[in-house]
Order: sequence, then C-alpha cells, then structure tokens
Amino acid sequence: MSGRPGEDQTIGPESARLREVRPGVHAWVQPDGSWWINNAGAVAGDDGVLLVDTCATAERTRRFLTALDSATGGAPFRLAVNTHQHGDHTYGNSLLPDATVLIGHERMREGLRTDVVIDGCPPFWTPVPDWGPVRRRLPDVAVTTSTTVHVAGRPVQLLHPGGPAHTTGDLVAWLPEERVLFAGDLLFAGLTPLVFMGSVTGALAAVDWLADMEPEVVVPGHGPVLEGAQIDVVLDEHRRYYRFVLDRADVGLARGRTPLEVARDTDLGEFAGWADAERFVLNLHRVYADREGRDLDPAAVLPDAVAWLGGPMPTAV
Ligand SMILES: [Zn+2]
Repeated sequence: MSGRPGEDQTIGPESARLREVRPGVHAWVQPDGSWWINNAGAVAGDDGVLLVDTCATAERTRRFLTALDSATGGAPFRLAVNTHQHGDHTYGNSLLPDATVLIGHERMREGLRTDVVIDGCPPFWTPVPDWGPVRRRLPDVAVTTSTTVHVAGRPVQLLHPGGPAHTTGDLVAWLPEERVLFAGDLLFAGLTPLVFMGSVTGALAAVDWLADMEPEVVVPGHGPVLEGAQIDVVLDEHRRYYRFVLDRADVGLARGRTPLEVARDTDLGEFAGWADAERFVLNLHRVYADREGRDLDPAAVLPDAVAWLGGPMPTAV
C-alpha cells in the first residue's frame, strides 16, 4: 500500500481484527483507534447476526463484513445498531445488505440525516479522508430511550444513558448474560475522549452508569478491548479527564479567557500522551456553550483544534 515516509503501516485497514470475546460475541478492533478509526462488533448465532456499528470508509466496512461473514459461516446480517451518529460508526451503513434492519436513537438518526461530512470531509484532517462508495443510510427503527432485541436466543439491551453524553443520541449494546458491553464512544481506551457534540457533565455521569452494569468485557468505541481490572482503570481515567476539562473551563470562564487560550495555557499532565489531545479545546468549547446556555456549531470550533495543534489533525483512516 502507499504511505507517506515514516507513516506507521500497522494502523492501515489491513491491521483490523475480529476477536471473539465470548462465544458468538465479536469485537472488530481497528488500531490505533485515532480519528475516524473506530471499533465495531457483532452478536451472532445460526439464525442471524446483530452488528454493532459500521466503519467510516467503504474499505474498512467491507473488511469488517467479510471477516464477520467467515466467522459466522455466512449467517444473515438481520439487525444492526448504530451507537451514535458519527461517521466513523455510520458511513459504512450502506454496505449492509438491504434486508438488514438498522436501529438507532432518534437523535442519532436526525444527526446522520443532517450530516454534511459524509458528502465531503472538510480539510480539518490530513490527509483529507475519502469515504469511498458510501451513501447516507438511516436507521429503520428509531429508539427514544431503550429497547431489547433477541439474537441467537439471547437478549441484547440497547440502552440510552438518559441524556447527552458523547452525543445527544447515544446507545450502548449490553449483553446481560455474558456481561459484555459495547460502549460506543462513551469510552475511548487510552485515547482522548471527545464530547463536544454531547455534554461533559453527561459523559461524566455516563461513566458511573456504565460502571453500575458491572461488565466483564468492554468493547470501547476506540482503543483495545478491556477485561477485568482494566475496565475500572479506564473508567477512572475518564472521570479524571472530564473533571479536568470542567475545572479548566470554569477557571477560563471566570477569567474571561477563550477555550483556545485556556488550552494553550494548560499542561495536559497525565493526559498529554493520549492520541488526539487537541480534542481538549473542543471539549472546553462544549463546557463553555453549556454554561452559557447556547448551541455549539461543530464546524465553527474545529478550527480551534487545528490552531492548537498547529495544522490539520492527522488521520490514517
Ligand atoms: Zn467514534
């Protein structure tokens, strides 16, 4: 494959792997989990498959569907759920078979319906992503709070955290019998969380909500699969990060500083090593908007992340 000199070839589409975390429960893990490179998954039985999310590009989604097809012996893709509206989890929806019934939160559906990035990604990222031959495909079933679907004789609960968190229309997929949680982007394992289209306080509350489920295996929206004691470590990292963002934002607001000024003056400390650190300024913008009771236009604040970084945000999608 082509690549820029020095580019890490281990994070291309070919590096993604399907991992069976419990019998019939699969995680599609895509290194390195940075911008636009998501995790997905599936719950499978002889009678059919429930997919959890698709991928940003046609190529990455095709690889996921092909791997799943061989792992499940060609069982039909009966159902799919989108954990939220963002393109890294939804642009590949149109590669699903026509017969697949797609489920999403009603605000996720509206978010994807009005998404303009699928029609052409703005140059906030480098290289500018090319999604390939995808088209907007919206959920057939819109969920307002929570619902349960049954796949291969087992229940899969699709649960909404109760308010804005990563976005306004998040769903997680929870298997209560296997104690496996597909957390979507309520969790980023070892990468900077992104909540500028949701709520920092809501995302913080959602961490406790996830912890109360007491999962044994967590498939985060980005980053490696978590098991056992790793789960609490990552949940605590999220709590500390969100409290850090809230604290820095409130200090900045009190001093009349802009989010970009605050971000430039902030030592990210233990979070400095996480990929996509520039999300800090986006997350600050979310707190400012919420504290001031106004809407936030994502396209209007993304330039601040580019300014903080000193250039477009790198992506290997
Ligand atoms: Zn994502």
